[in-house]
Amino acid sequence: MSSAPLSIGIIGSGAMGAGIAQVVATAGHPVQLLDQNAAALERATASIAANLRKLAEKGKLTQAAADAAAARLHPTANMQDFAACGLVIEAIVEDLAVKQQIFRQVEGIVSAECILASNTSSLSVTSIAAACQRPERFLGIHFFNPAPLMQLVEVIPAVQTRPRLAEEIKLLVQSWGKRPVLAQDTPGFIVNRVARPFYGEAIRILEEGLADMATIDWAMTELGGFRMGPFALMDFIGHDVNYRVTESVFTAFFYDPRYRPSFTQKRLFEAGYYGRKAGRGFYNYA
Ligand code: NAD
Repeated sequence: MSSAPLSIGIIGSGAMGAGIAQVVATAGHPVQLLDQNAAALERATASIAANLRKLAEKGKLTQAAADAAAARLHPTANMQDFAACGLVIEAIVEDLAVKQQIFRQVEGIVSAECILASNTSSLSVTSIAAACQRPERFLGIHFFNPAPLMQLVEVIPAVQTRPRLAEEIKLLVQSWGKRPVLAQDTPGFIVNRVARPFYGEAIRILEEGLADMATIDWAMTELGGFRMGPFALMDFIGHDVNYRVTESVFTAFFYDPRYRPSFTQKRLFEAGYYGRKAGRGFYNYA
């Protein structure tokens, strides 16, 4: 991989896409940030600018570095702007068919050398790669929310990924100040698999009437040492994302009951009570 800063395209400017854009722009990469929703793109641009401003105020970035990062960010609604990108990271809805479709579109625009990556939490990286004409340049780069703060990044080669690409990407991710870990392409990879029982058992404890949400969250944070309790964390992630991940891990493990989703979360998802971003989830934020 060349040492000149790679131009990076990011598809989806929601919670994850915006955070990843901030990380890579701060690390010196020109960034094309694309969203089909103009309002989401505007929100992301404003929130990245505000985050960079705050980092400069706190002295965590120099003003010049914050200004330079902001100047590297190019919001766009036109995928043709990805033509010169050396890496494209997708962070759109957690839906296999939609992700496969977007990569077909991307491959019609980028060069044959451009590396393609998905930020999927739970889908098979191999299945997304299978929709590509050049699946050997495809892999998973899975950030955690909020991407600018969370150190861990899972790097997930697909079955088709060319040898050494995952190692090259690990070095690149390290150069962004992150700590990459290689994960196998299995449902939920490492962290989202370990996290399923954290959420699932918390919901079961609630459903069985053993404790209320606030008590469970309190016990896990104050006594268990977790940064967030399971209900606060699910609301933070968003039930649109978290429910889909639970369903996808359950299905992908051939309906293993250990990963069975709950109706409690399904109903929140169906109602559009996605958590913090909707003003309502397990808790009320209005
Ligand atoms: P989000 O809903 O906040 O953002 C998704 C964005 O993608 C939206 O702005 C939407 O307008 C845009 N989008 C959807 N389809 C598009 C398309 N076809 N073309 C262009 N833009 C499109 O979602 P998110 O929480 O950022 O999650 C995105 C991905 O990252 C998912 O695959 C999710 O599983 C994964 N992920 C989420 C988290 C999390 O905690 N939220 C953590 C790690 C990974």
